Order: sequence, then structure tokens, then C-alpha cells
Amino acid sequence: MRPIREMMLPHLAAMQGYSGVDPLEVLAQEAGIPPEKVARLNGNENPHGPSPKVIQALSSYRYYNLYPDPDQRQIREALSRYLGVEPERLVAGNGSDEIIDLVLRLFVRPGDKVLIPTPTFGMYAFSTRVCNGEPVSIPRDELFDVDAEGLARAADSRARVVFVTSPNNPTGNVTPASVVRRVLALGLIVVVDETYYEFCGQTVLPLVGEHPNLIVLRTFSKWAGLAGLRIGLGVMAPEVARVMMTVKPPYNVNLAAQVALLATLEDRELLLSRVKALIAERERMRSMLSNVQGVKVWPSQANFLLCEMPNGRGPGAYQGLARRGIFVRYFDTPRLKDCIRISVGLPEHTDAVVSALRQALKE
Ligand code: PMP
Repeated sequence: MRPIREMMLPHLAAMQGYSGVDPLEVLAQEAGIPPEKVARLNGNENPHGPSPKVIQALSSYRYYNLYPDPDQRQIREALSRYLGVEPERLVAGNGSDEIIDLVLRLFVRPGDKVLIPTPTFGMYAFSTRVCNGEPVSIPRDELFDVDAEGLARAADSRARVVFVTSPNNPTGNVTPASVVRRVLALGLIVVVDETYYEFCGQTVLPLVGEHPNLIVLRTFSKWAGLAGLRIGLGVMAPEVARVMMTVKPPYNVNLAAQVALLATLEDRELLLSRVKALIAERERMRSMLSNVQGVKVWPSQANFLLCEMPNGRGPGAYQGLARRGIFVRYFDTPRLKDCIRISVGLPEHTDAVVSALRQALKE
């Protein structure tokens, strides 16, 4: 028999994993404190949790012994009413992560290029590699805006998909619809990832009807506090949605996620008032962090802030915070080596992170 490793597809056997956020218990052990003392500000999660109606609906639902509907009828109807788009344009996924994967599986052949304005969310490159495609980084400009000309230059015959994230993770800035239109004109599949839409209110959803090559992503992970239940969605041309519905795993959205989604949509007002509070907290944190000597805070329209530390102090700041039980995100790339990304938490998290950062930068 050949060695098992040789039987695996080489591009998969050689892959590095995606580094997601560690569980609370692991972070607590790292900092040597109890889990309830950990401030987990590294996943852009919602510190308010889900709607109380979700908790109630999950515990009173009785049919977890049945498989969910592979055609997502109830989900697509509810999302259609919520978003004002036809159900035929919708596909729900196990987080928007799954829609990213499905888009790439649908459009990318081995060796095809996927254009990614960077720095941005790591899953685009990761999922491209899983499909044996080639992620091509198109650096954003000095203000982290998308370089539409750079994308045009890279859009050769092997290029298939572009990812435009708006607001972008981890930089927090929005891409205007005018730029998205220029990118759409390249004729590639354009995925506009609006995972943080509810924190900014700017969307290109109305463009989906005019552009069959546009796919807009949304999620319930951030504004609705359902990251752990995994429910996201894509809005796209009906013919793309039809094929995506055919090739997706039949039961990709589980019943708990469905129950939670439907209850969430019944409690929008409360959840959007929490979003408003998070936006206010973001601005409070931004002004407090801007007063820390040597720290530059980038403007953000999402639920996190990208903060630039004094030269070379990125890793030290990250470690200093971690030792105090505050976990933020550090990116080990040349462009972001001095930066940390801090998710917006509760007011006490803001106070703790600002005071810990002051101390950490003195060390
Ligand atoms: N896109 C972006 C830009 C993100 O930041 C994230 C989550 N960190 C996702 C997609 C994935 O979200 P979901 O939980 O819906 O899979």
C-alpha cells in the first residue's frame, strides 16, 4: 500500500489550518485566571448574547429528532420578508463562512485565481486553497481602500472571483457602491461580504437585481449574537442560488439555527437597539484609545477597532493584554505587524482594555 499521506490530495495535505479563536477555557488557562474573568475581544462576537426570545424558542421547540428542510423553505421565506428580496435569490449557510466555501466550489477550478484586496478576512484565501485555487492578494491603498485599478490589472483569464468586504475586517472601512460597480464591470464573480452591515447601514443589496455576477453575504453572528449557532446567507442571481441549493450539503443549516433565526427576526427591535449601544461603545472606546500615548486608532464602521501601536510594539501589546486576561487579535503580516484588533464589548471591557493597554505599553 502507498503511504496514506501520498493518497491524500497534495494541495490539501500541505495546507495550514485556519487559526480561529480559542475557546474561553483555553484562554483562561493561558492567562491563569477563571474563564468568567476572561475578556474575549478577539472574535468580533456580540457581548449581549442572543435575544431572550431565541433562548425561549430553542428550549420549547420539540422536533430536534427530525432533519431540517433541505430546501430551507421557512428560512428563505422569513429572510425574503426581512431583506425584501425574492426567496429564489437566497441561500442560507452554516455561517457566511459556508457561503464563501460554496461560492468558491461553484466557480473556481484548480489553478484559477481569486482576487483578494488585503488586509482582510483570512477565510477567503483559506477556502480558495481548499479548492486548489490561487489566492491573489491585491493590496489596499494607504487608507485601506480597495484598489480598483489593481483589481482590473489582475483580472486576467484565470481570475474568477473577487472578494470585497464592507465594512472590511480588520480595518473597519466601507467600500462605496461606486467602487463596487467598477469592480462588477470587470465581469468576474464579485462577493460583497456585508457581515458587519448592521453596524454601518451601507449596503449594495439593491444592486443584486441588476448584476448577475454579484453575491452579497450577510450573517446573524454579529448583530444578532448567534455566532455559535452558525447561520449566514448569500443573496445572488436566482440561477446561481438554484445551483448552490443543489450542491450544498442537504442539511447544512441545523434546526437549532433555524429556530434561533426565526425567533431573532421576531425580536429585531431589541437586537438593533443593542447594535446601537455597541456603536456608541465603539466610539467611546475609540476616543479613549486615541488618548493612549502613541496609539493610532483607525475609524471603524463595524464592531471592532484596528489600533496601531508605536513602532514594533504590536506583539508586546497583544501579549501584555493576554497576560491580563484580555484577548484581542494580532495579525503577523508586514502591513499589520504593529496593529491589534479589539472587538467592541461591554463598557467594563472597554475600561479594562484601555487601562491594561496603558500598562502594557509601559513595560
Ligand atoms: N466574513 C467576515 C468579514 C468576517 O469577519 C466573518 C467572521 N469573523 C465571517 C465572514 C464569518 O461569519 P460567520 O460567523 O457568519 O461564518
